[in-house]
This record gives sequence, C-alpha cells and structure tokens, in this order.
Amino acid sequence: MLQNLLKRFRKEPQVQYSEPAIMNAYSRLPVSFVRGEGAQLWDATGREYLDALGGIAVTFLGHCHPKISEAISLQANKILHTSNLFHIQEQADLGAKFCAVSGMDKVFFGNSGAEANEAAIKIARLHARSKGVKQPIIITAEQSFHGRTMAALSATGSTAVQKGFAPLLDGFVHVPYNDIAAMREYADNSNVVAIMVEPIQGEGGIIVPDSGYLKALRTLCDEQGWLLIVDEIQTGMGRTGKWFAFEHEGIQPDVITCAKALGNGIPIGACAAKGAAAELISPGTHGTTFGGNPFASKIGETVIDIINQENLVEKAGKTGASLKKQLQQTLATFDHVVDIRGKGLMLGIELDKAYPELALKFLAAGLVINITGGGKVIRLLPSVMLSETQVKKIVETIRDVVSTL
Ligand SMILES: *Cc1c(COP(=O)(O)O)cnc(C)c1O
Repeated sequence: MLQNLLKRFRKEPQVQYSEPAIMNAYSRLPVSFVRGEGAQLWDATGREYLDALGGIAVTFLGHCHPKISEAISLQANKILHTSNLFHIQEQADLGAKFCAVSGMDKVFFGNSGAEANEAAIKIARLHARSKGVKQPIIITAEQSFHGRTMAALSATGSTAVQKGFAPLLDGFVHVPYNDIAAMREYADNSNVVAIMVEPIQGEGGIIVPDSGYLKALRTLCDEQGWLLIVDEIQTGMGRTGKWFAFEHEGIQPDVITCAKALGNGIPIGACAAKGAAAELISPGTHGTTFGGNPFASKIGETVIDIINQENLVEKAGKTGASLKKQLQQTLATFDHVVDIRGKGLMLGIELDKAYPELALKFLAAGLVINITGGGKVIRLLPSVMLSETQVKKIVETIRDVVSTL
C-alpha cells in the first residue's frame, strides 16, 4: 500500500509546484500545506496529514489555536509596528513574562533564532571587553547548530553548514559535545570568555548529553568567569517538559536564546541574560527595526499565557513520555532502529543508516516528520496539542514505514 502511495506521490502530483523566482536554498518535498488545525494539516488537494514536525518546533500550540488567532486579529486591528525609538508596552509585558518563566533578568527581542544568537555572541564580546580580553574565544560544540548568519554560522559546529563561506568569524573553537574534559582543556586560557551549547542538540540528531553535563559546564564557567550561553531555540517554551531544558539540570545560565515556539509561527527571537550579563547592552550597541514590535510581542505574550493557563509544560512532558514509551515498545525488535531518544516532545529515532526518500515515504503515509543527524535520525517535534489517538497514529505510521525499509 505504501509503495503504491509513494508511486502516486512521485508520478502524479495533482498540483505542479513551480517557483522560478525563488532562490534555490531548499530541496523541498512535493507538497504544499494550505490549512492546519491542531496537529493536522491539509495539502492543496485536500489530503490530510498528521503533523509530527510542527514547522520545525515552531507551532508548539498547534495550527490555528483559537486564542492565537484571536490575539492576531485583535492586535492587527490595534497597531502592528511603531519602532524601538519609542516605548512598546507589549514588548515590556512580554519581557516581564519571559523573564518570569525563564528566571532571567532582562531580554532583547529580535526576529529569529540566528538573530538571538547574534545578540548572545555580542554580549559575550562585550563581556570580553569588560574583562580587558582583546581576542575573545567562545567555545561551542561539534555537531551544534546555532543559525545561518555569519557569526551564528561561525559558532555552528558543522563543516557542512559552513562550507563555502570562509573566512568565518574569528573567536570560536569547537569541542566534542557531552565531553566535559574537552571543555576543561580550555580552563585558564585567558582568551576564553564563554561557552555556548544546546541543552539537547537538535539539528545534530537529537543528541541528549549525559545528565550532569550542563551542571559541570556551569561549574566550569563559574570558576573561570566565563558566560554560560544556552541555546534554547529548539528546546525552549516547554517542549522538553520544562519551560527551558536547562531546568532539567537545576542550573541558571548567564544567557539564553529562544525563538521557534515563542511566536507559534509569528517570527520572534529572544536573547535573555542574568546578572552582570544583562547590563552589557547599552544604547547604540545593538538594535533592530522589527524586533519586539507590538504585534510579535503580543503574540509571544499570548503564547506564554496559553502555556501557563493550559498547563502545557507538564502536558508536553507527559505526552512526550507516552510517545517515547510507545515508540520503544513498538520498535524494540526492529533491526533498522538503533536508538530512540529525546526529552518531552523532542524525540529522535536513529536508524542504522541513511535511507533514500525517507521523508517522502512518511509523507506518502500521511505523517510529516523530518530527517536529521546525517540522514539517519527521524526527528519528531510535534505540537503539545497531540491527542492520545494522534500519538498512537504517529507510532503506527512510523512502524509501518520503518518496517518497509
Ligand atoms: C533553528 C535553530 C537556530 C536558528 O534559528 P533561525 O530562526 O532559523 O535563525 C539556532 N539554534 C538552534 C538550536 C536551532 O534549533
């Protein structure tokens, strides 16, 4: 049945997609979703899909959450944009709520994850200046992903992502992930000013470090006077069963970055800092035209309100645990499945090798997922609005597709 569906998908696309005026940045799958509701999507031909990707960890509250749609409409009829030359009450309100849920002191809002990391990197450079360090180094991890702008790209620990863009920005070194000793080798190097890590590597293939890793990095940073920057762009906003994944380790970073789920589809990014690191940005040192405008801020605030009111951090933990358990039970005996891992609603299924057209096979079976980790890891980043029936359906579809490999 799957083979037939796949054949149909390949040979008889009912809609021909053509985008001659779009730069060739993506190799896209042959589908266009035109409508969504909760964890369901419909394509242009009316076919229904179950969405286990959530626009890459963005639509945590599902598609068209009624309270988000209402907030969008209300704010659109009030004011969209003024400028950061003026006080923006919506931004101040979102900032206060973001700090309340993250334990940070102050936040700078931009429009994306990469921009949030740019702000974090600039804060690390200002931290260096405050200590008289002229050639500052930030330590990041191999297989990390921090974004596509030049500084974020330089921080990223992937030669594939960096290929073709030399010269990269100076001041980054990459060490193996989940390896405290490798970080410790830089102890007493007076040029190092910060460590920047993902609490779970997302693009790298849902790599969960040993428990104690972040805590050890916190200790190292405290000893050395380095900033601990935690990139929560993919893990944040409740996805892993805590507001932020660093909470699993009971630590508080100096700087965190967040984006994806913060706007549930409206572009917004945040770089938040604590203590002295929160005071380094001053007028003239950083800025943005769009960032934190009334519209994006109002939606961000609504996202936080909904997560709080509907107890969704806890639900993400529970639903994720149920999904993971069922995946483990169902796929335990499958030859091609090497590992099932992750926290909350951020799960990865590692296969023994890369299989061609795997994402397309899932699409043909009606399930939207994504393949990462060198083509071997099925990545699930579903909405917290998943019902138990939908959880079962995800597991059954993965079983069906993986059993044909
Ligand atoms: C997605 C992601 C980014 C980049 O975010 P953009 O909004 O695409 O710029 C950075 N870091 C991590 C961990 C991410 O998952």
